[in-house]
Amino acid sequence: MIDCIFCKILNNEIPSTKLYEDEGVYAFLDIRPISKGHALVVPKRHSETFLDMASEDIDSLFKTTQKVATAVMEAMNADGFNIGMANFPAAGQSVPHSHVHIIPRFSDDGLKHWSGGESNDLEEIQKKIVKFL
Ligand code: 5GP
Ligand code: ZN
Repeated sequence: MIDCIFCKILNNEIPSTKLYEDEGVYAFLDIRPISKGHALVVPKRHSETFLDMASEDIDSLFKTTQKVATAVMEAMNADGFNIGMANFPAAGQSVPHSHVHIIPRFSDDGLKHWSGGESNDLEEIQKKIVKFL
């Protein structure tokens, strides 16, 4: 048995504030919300990151993310939303069970957007990445 907090939620060993579920995915409210209505969508089958998800789980995860995001937008009267997925600790992943964050955004919420930097090496980077595709 994997010692995974989201698997424990899925097995009803830990309570959660459920929003939606179907055979493949489960959506619930984040216990430490970045904004009101911050939701998480997780595949029921354990996978650690996006990279090891089964392709049918990717389909249902993103379809459900759209469904839940639509409801969250309406319910919270949000002006927008971010979806995000942290993969590996270096990217801020703290729970090693794949999950998508739905973060409602409000025009005056004061949250910072990512900002871009300089780029003078796009073609060099393109060559490196394309080799792996
Ligand atoms: P990550 O940091 O891996 O991208 O996101 C993990 C998220 O799971 C965090 O936003 C955190 O607040 C949330 N979280 C961690 N433990 C629990 C829990 O027991 N219940 C709920 N509802 N959310 C949790
Ligand atoms: Zn798990």
